[in-house]
Amino acid sequence: MKYAAIDNYIGGKYTPSRTNKYLEVHSPLDGNLLSKAPLSSKDDLNDAVLAAKKAFETWSKTPIKDRVQIFYRYKTLLERDMTALSKLVQEENGKTFDEARAEVEKSIELTEFACSLPQLIGGEILEVSRGVECRTDYYPIGVVASIVPFNFPSMVPNWTIPNALVLGNTMILKPSEVVPLSSLKIAELLKEAGLPDGVLNIINGDREIVEAICDHPDIEAVSFVGSTKVAKIVYARASASFKRVLALGGAKNHLIVLPDAHPSMTATNVTASMSGCAGQRCMAASAMVAVGNVDAIIEQICLEARKVIPGVNLGAVISKNAKERIEKYITEAESQGASILVDGRNTIVKGKEDGFYVGPTVIDNVTPDMSVAKEEIFGPVISIIHAKDIDEALSIENANPYGNAAAVFTQSGGAARYIIERANAGMIGVNIGVPVPREPFSFGGWNDSKFGVGDLTGKSAIAFWTKLKKTTTKWNAEAKTNWMS
Ligand code: NAD
Repeated sequence: MKYAAIDNYIGGKYTPSRTNKYLEVHSPLDGNLLSKAPLSSKDDLNDAVLAAKKAFETWSKTPIKDRVQIFYRYKTLLERDMTALSKLVQEENGKTFDEARAEVEKSIELTEFACSLPQLIGGEILEVSRGVECRTDYYPIGVVASIVPFNFPSMVPNWTIPNALVLGNTMILKPSEVVPLSSLKIAELLKEAGLPDGVLNIINGDREIVEAICDHPDIEAVSFVGSTKVAKIVYARASASFKRVLALGGAKNHLIVLPDAHPSMTATNVTASMSGCAGQRCMAASAMVAVGNVDAIIEQICLEARKVIPGVNLGAVISKNAKERIEKYITEAESQGASILVDGRNTIVKGKEDGFYVGPTVIDNVTPDMSVAKEEIFGPVISIIHAKDIDEALSIENANPYGNAAAVFTQSGGAARYIIERANAGMIGVNIGVPVPREPFSFGGWNDSKFGVGDLTGKSAIAFWTKLKKTTTKWNAEAKTNWMS
C-alpha cells in the first residue's frame, strides 16, 4: 500500500473511525492499492457535528474580513503545492497530470472568488420613514454538510468549502469513498493557513454516512454533487428533515452541430469535450446532434479522436466496473445497428495492464431510442444522432430528462440565438464544448441535473450559504409613529 490508511478529520485532529472498518482505495491508472479509507458510522458523524457546533460559536462571530485572510493564505498554499496536489488527484482519480493540474488551478479560482465575498455581501440600509431605518445582514446558517463525487477530488470540494466557510459556516465534508485522499490535503492546507479546529471536518464513508447527514438534526444545510439517482434521494431525505438542500445530479449533454460550423474548431472541441477527463465530467459531450450534412466534420472528429491515446493524453476511468459498463453500452449500440466509427473497447495500456482504460469512441447512426442516446455513459464516448433541421435537433435535445449543458456549433449568430433560447439546459455553449461558467458566474443545471433553488457556486453561493436578517431601527424620539413604525 503506497500510503498509510487514512482517518477521519474531526476538530483539527486525525481521528480513527469507531467502526474499524475500511475500504481499499485503488489507483485507476494501474490498479495498485493506494490506501484504505474508513467506513464511518453515525457515531463518528455525531463527533464531527459536535466539533463543528463548538467551532461555529467563535467562527460565526469572527468578522468576514478576518475569516477571508485564511483563504488568501490557502490560495498561496495551493499554488505552492500545485505539483504534489495534481499528482495525488491523478493517482486517485486516474485523469492525466495536465487535467489534474487544471483541476487544482480551478480550485485556486474558486478560492479567489471566495476571497471577494466581503466585497459582495455588504447589506443594504435605507431610511424608510422619518428617523426609521431598515437594514439587511447576511448571517451564516450553522453546521452545513457537503457531499461530493469521485470525478473532481479537488475542484468539487472547493466548490463548497471556501464559500461556505468564508460566509461563517462550519462544515462536515463527505468525500467520495473512492477518492478520499485529496480532501485530507485540503484540510491540511487549511490548517496550515490558520483555519481554527472544528471549522472543517471530514467524515469518510459511503451511503450510511450520507443518510446520517440527511437525518442529523444539527446539520442545517446539505449540498450534494453526484448522480441523479442519489441526488434525488438526498434532496428528498434531507428536505424531509427540514434542511436547506441543493443537489446537483448527472447529465446527458447534447452538442448540436449545424452544417455551417467551422470544421476544425468543431472537431477539436467535440473531441475534447467527450474525451477530456475520460468523459467523466458532468459537462462532457455525450450526444452530438448532426443537422443536415456534416459528414466532413464527423470525419474530422474521428481523426481527432484517434489522436487521443489512452495512457498518454487520455486517463483511466474510475474502476473495472465503470470500464465494463461503458463497453457494454458500446456493444449494445452496435448490436442495435449503430456504426462504431472509432472503437475504444478492449484497450490495454502497456505497462499498466491492470489500469481501467477505455479508448475514445465515436458511434454514428444512433437513434434517440437507444440507451447510448438516452443514458449518462460517463466515459469517452460520443453518440451521433442525425436530424434534418434545427427544430428536430432541438426536439431531441429537449426530450432528454437532464439539463446540465447543451452547445451549438455554427457560424450564424441568428441560429445560435435560436438554439440558446430553446435548449432545455442550464448552461449553454456557443462553439464551446464544455461551457463551464467561470467565477463570478454560477454553475448549475436544470431539470434532472439539479434539485433545489439557485446554484452552488459564484454569486448564487451567497443565498445558499447564508440567511438574511432584516432589522428596523428608530432612535429619535421625534420620529413619527405610524402604523408601520
Ligand atoms: P454518486 O452519486 O455515486 O456518489 C456521490 C456521493 O454520494 C458519494 O459521496 C457517495 O459516497 C454517495 N452515495 C453513493 N451512493 C449512495 C446512495 N445510494 N445513498 C446515499 N449516498 C450515496 O456519484 P459519483 O459516481 O461519485 O459521481 C459521478 C456522478 O456525479 C455523475 O452522474 C456526474 O454527472 C455527477 N456529477 C455532477 C456534477 C454536477 O455539477 N451536476 C458534477 C460532478 C459530477
